Amino acid sequence: MSDANLKQRLLLFLSTKANFKFINFAMPSQVHRPLWYKVYPQAYYRDVYEAIKNDDVEVEQKKLPAGIPARYWSRVGPWDDELQVSPLFNLNNPFWQMILVHECTHIHIDIQGIGKHSTAEGEALAYTAGAVYLSAGGLKKGKEKDPILQNIYQTADGIASKILHGTYRVSAGDTQALVSAILKHPSIQRKSRTPSDGV
Ligand SMILES: [Zn+2]
Repeated sequence: MSDANLKQRLLLFLSTKANFKFINFAMPSQVHRPLWYKVYPQAYYRDVYEAIKNDDVEVEQKKLPAGIPARYWSRVGPWDDELQVSPLFNLNNPFWQMILVHECTHIHIDIQGIGKHSTAEGEALAYTAGAVYLSAGGLKKGKEKDPILQNIYQTADGIASKILHGTYRVSAGDTQALVSAILKHPSIQRKSRTPSDGV
């Protein structure tokens, strides 16, 4: 069942957070050339907003495994896609906001219907968008205990800093460094693919 109150809070978040205007960059795919993944402010406050508002993406409050505050479940076929959010989720906390931006980036890729694409590259895009969001607001997250995650966040922060200083096209080298950091995570396999079939 979807949660109307949570949905309203997410819509408010998407339509009022000024930091979205800084999330504007392109990242080159190494796997699907010559594809450039692109994110831009309207992806959040217009496209993802509309998808959630119209229930093309259902918002679901759900007890999730430890360490997972939220996740996006892209379902192939006639079923609604689902944004699952932990009952502990606190939208006033910058770290949780960043997680939400991360998940909304996955929704944005799904909306675009680019087809099956590298899971690791999708994560690279989502971590970078989250890092831009956080740095643009001068917000900070606590230090991550897991060294693999800490390395991912640090690498994404480095890219975010360049984007905030005017870089639009992320270099292949920077993208590769982040994808490599992500591939060290046990849940992500090099060959795994994520669907993107519209919402
Ligand atoms: Zn992700």
